[in-house]
Amino acid sequence: MKLDDRGLLVVISGPSGVGKGTVRSALFNMTGHDLVYSVSMTTRAPREGEVDGVDYYFVTREEFEQRIRENKFLEYAEFVGNYYGTPLDKVEEQLALGKEVVLEIEVQGALQVREKMKDALFIFIAPPSIEDLYQRLINRGTEPIETINERIAKAKREIKLAYLYDYIVVNDDVDNAADKILAIIRATHAKTERTIHNYNKLMGVKDNGL
Ligand code: 5GP
Repeated sequence: MKLDDRGLLVVISGPSGVGKGTVRSALFNMTGHDLVYSVSMTTRAPREGEVDGVDYYFVTREEFEQRIRENKFLEYAEFVGNYYGTPLDKVEEQLALGKEVVLEIEVQGALQVREKMKDALFIFIAPPSIEDLYQRLINRGTEPIETINERIAKAKREIKLAYLYDYIVVNDDVDNAADKILAIIRATHAKTERTIHNYNKLMGVKDNGL
């Protein structure tokens, strides 16, 4: 008998440029877990090699806004001129099946989920330092220096929100960070508040109502 047989929503978030996407890939490349990735919907154009329905569901602004009106998102946010959102139906479906569902989203969206899903697990991916974040954005070479400075300013505001998360994982090494996330997920399943009812049942002990 599994002591915790309920689904678990895992929100991986953190400032832009911290390497959330890379950590998420490393996590999904690891073996020995049964995590389900929640594919987001976006209005941004696909990048080379990205596949519709795998990396994102690519839709038009009109389609996205229609879905907002129909309350079809668990959360959504506008990020650098494009919409990004988590389709609610898929998340609900997987959680009902007892799965561990992983969202990799920016901070505004994560805070919306925090309000709605009290049982979810929130992990903040932090840069080792502001200098490191700056260097990563420079190395990416995709943006002019003014944009990089704006992103750093935004990242500093987001870093201040780390206290709203359950765990902070510093991305000093991608595999190390992915390893820690898996350990946190496993530890969460063992929490008393998630296991006590089944444990009492198994032991034939009267439930004390926790
Ligand atoms: P990119 O365009 O580089 O794929 O993603 C830009 C940002 O959007 C990243 O920080 C990524 O984590 C975030 N993002 C991806 N999907 C979602 C989503 O469904 N909701 C929110 N709020 N952010 C998302």
